[in-house]
Amino acid sequence: MDKNRLVPHLSQLGTTIFAEMSALAVSTGAINLGQGFPDVDGPRSVADAARDAISAGRGNQYPPGPGIPELRDAIAAHQRTTYDITLDPDSEVLVTAGATEAIAAAMLAFVDEGDEVIALEPFYDSYRATITMARGRCIPVRLEPPEFRLDAGRLRDAVTERTKVVLLNSPHNPTGAVLSTAELGQIAQVAIDRDLIVVTDEVYEHLAFDELHTPIATLPGMAERTVSISSMGKTFSFTGWKVGWVSGPASLVDAVRTTKQYLTFVSGGPFQYAAAHALTAEMGWVEGLRQSMANRRDLLTDGLAQLGLDTYRPRGTYFVVTDVRPLGWDDALTFCRSLPERAGVVAIPCSVFYEAPGAAESALVRWTFSKQEQVLQNALARLASANLTPTV
Ligand code: PMP
Ligand code: GLN
Repeated sequence: MDKNRLVPHLSQLGTTIFAEMSALAVSTGAINLGQGFPDVDGPRSVADAARDAISAGRGNQYPPGPGIPELRDAIAAHQRTTYDITLDPDSEVLVTAGATEAIAAAMLAFVDEGDEVIALEPFYDSYRATITMARGRCIPVRLEPPEFRLDAGRLRDAVTERTKVVLLNSPHNPTGAVLSTAELGQIAQVAIDRDLIVVTDEVYEHLAFDELHTPIATLPGMAERTVSISSMGKTFSFTGWKVGWVSGPASLVDAVRTTKQYLTFVSGGPFQYAAAHALTAEMGWVEGLRQSMANRRDLLTDGLAQLGLDTYRPRGTYFVVTDVRPLGWDDALTFCRSLPERAGVVAIPCSVFYEAPGAAESALVRWTFSKQEQVLQNALARLASANLTPTV
């Protein structure tokens, strides 16, 4: 098929870097510190709940469009007990096929051709892709190293007559930054002043290590304009199950439900029962994961620093970003493509998370610490004994 016959605005999207790098890890037998997923599954009782649901015939046929009531109740209860957010589970909560579908459905619901969506750059790859699918324009507002803090002036300056949505992500993939309450307050002020919808991707809400995660929906004036997104993938270490959710005011959630029903209609019936059980009975396990992930953050960040890389200490997520220029590399993509052969390790070049990466951004590499300590130690040992300079 002639490539020119494909829809032109989609041709720029290509294969995701996660798929490319995970395939490289498999084909070379390298340790995969690229795509962010844990190498130990979540709580046993949650896996049992999914098996029990299948055996008992719960969720094996199409579940209700907005999600099973048990899960919507559990999501509303989680938001209430964790953040003091009150939601009507029938009209203000929607279950999706992972956060990925929630993001896509939100962009398709809110973005019209030519509308602008402001996203914090570097951004998770599905943001620009789904904004593009909605025929909108992605407007980056950069978080600058070393702290990857938001410059609120830049955000304010980025808003135009066409701005419809601010798409946030905190804790932030790939940088590991966590938006402070001051930064959230500044974003809220801009959103209120310019009457914008805020879509906030909070999939790492329970992986903030140095401060508590604050949902922007809890700030004054924000609940009515904010769509919050999360999922069980990261919180409960079942990334393959793809159970996510959206919450917010009924009018916005209803708009997302409208597009969602033509994407997947529904998904993961038995897993929805398991997710309801997880949110109800396994939040203690989640706190254990957070603490263990904080230790692994330290292990990988310190280990990479000892190898001579400039590291940016993450305050949340699964990821640490390094600058590879101290090793003599300008281009992280070339570095990452050669890393399996050199060291038997896979990592992700951050240039793919930028609209127009400059010299500094082109040299950033993301590593995940969502693996067991022994695996991280092995990866560090491999890197320490490899030739990591550009000369062969
Ligand atoms: N948003 C961010 C920032 C992510 O890192 C990921 C990867 N889990 C997702 C969304 C997608 O989440 P899910 O697997 O629930 O679709
Ligand atoms: N969220 C994970 C990451 O950033 C996985 C992304 C994906 O596989 N699409 O690595």
